[in-house]
Amino acid sequence: MARTAPRKRSLAERFPPSEPCTCAVCVGYCARPGWWTVEEAARALEAGYGGRMMLEMAPDHSFGVLAPAFRGNEVDFARQQFAGNGCSFLKDERCELFGTGLQPLECRHVHHADPESGARVHAALERDWNTPAGRALVVRWSKETGFWERLKR
Ligand code: SF4
Repeated sequence: MARTAPRKRSLAERFPPSEPCTCAVCVGYCARPGWWTVEEAARALEAGYGGRMMLEMAPDHSFGVLAPAFRGNEVDFARQQFAGNGCSFLKDERCELFGTGLQPLECRHVHHADPESGARVHAALERDWNTPAGRALVVRWSKETGFWERLKR
């Protein structure tokens, strides 16, 4: 009998949510917004959050990542001058997206108990965005938010 290949686990299965935690270390992670998977970012865009995203480019500019924006840096390239403002979804030291099904995978997974997990999930998310689907979503977001038009000016 022919064997079926094992199903590839999704990123959400590989990086399950951590216990919720509001300690200073975990809240401190929100100074640097966590990343959605491409699929999650598409759902956040459909839910109307495109205007609260920013575009982070890979150092070699080969691909981009749509991330929760630094406050004041919405619908733009991620800019260092806004990096000190923290994530625009952080209100009163709580995440507005918590429990909505739209909190980014990286935010759900990373926890002070396993600091190494941050590097693992970040690398996996980079690979997820460096794909045709990731590039297509960046283009769609750029057009839907007017970022594309601004770039051409
Ligand atoms: S999306 Fe929520 S958990 Fe993630 S960095 Fe922003 S405030 Fe923090």
